[in-house]
Amino acid sequence: MTTITSNLQAVRDAIAAAAAEAGRQAGDIHLLAVSKTFAATALREAYRAGQTCFAESYVQEALDKIAALNDIPIEWHYIGPVQSNKTRAIAENFAWVHSVDRLKIAERLSGQRSAQLPPLQICLQVNISMEASKSGVAPDELDALARAVAELPGLKLRGLMAVPAPSDDVIVQRASFAKLREMRDRLNRQGLQLDTLSMGMSHDFAAAIAEGATIVRIGTAIFGDRIYLGETA
Ligand SMILES: *Cc1c(COP(=O)(O)O)cnc(C)c1O
Repeated sequence: MTTITSNLQAVRDAIAAAAAEAGRQAGDIHLLAVSKTFAATALREAYRAGQTCFAESYVQEALDKIAALNDIPIEWHYIGPVQSNKTRAIAENFAWVHSVDRLKIAERLSGQRSAQLPPLQICLQVNISMEASKSGVAPDELDALARAVAELPGLKLRGLMAVPAPSDDVIVQRASFAKLREMRDRLNRQGLQLDTLSMGMSHDFAAAIAEGATIVRIGTAIFGDRIYLGETA
């Protein structure tokens, strides 16, 4: 067995254990393999081990991999910052975008999504830890953004995403994820139908699952440590 194959199995087992602990069905939690900085060969290996959903954070790097892997049916998710000049490439090449945090970006994605394709599946990224440097809509601007995005053609608003400030304390991790869940529940009480909470990474996915994550975004625990080569978008 290769390292990626055995890592994937260990992550799946850990997701199942966290789900059981939380009294949830493991099948309600989707594993998104975060493959940024890793070569197409690594993704192909994960695909052979049964992984079909992959997430990328840098548009040009993603387009290269999408081209290199066009012989296998991968579902591509975009989780990086969305710049205006990259929305067309994103709208044309991805199934999901988890990192929408401004109406202007959502409008561009909506306008540029081909009617031939299924709607682009959208999560709004929320800045739950309110750090100035982090992307994400401010919690007090979320409701207005969600209502507006839900109306846009070519998009399907599915839920919320967050990257909380890192903490080793499970209590702190859970409190952040609980906030995102409460925001999703509040929007649903206002009439939206959001079924997705995209939350939890390699170091905190068990806490995220305990608080209702439906998608966990895991990179390091599957592919190993990343070495950044300087590309930022
Ligand atoms: C890189 C990244 C991840 C994966 O992080 P790991 O700690 O490697 O699991 C998840 N979500 C986002 C938004 C990322 O940028």
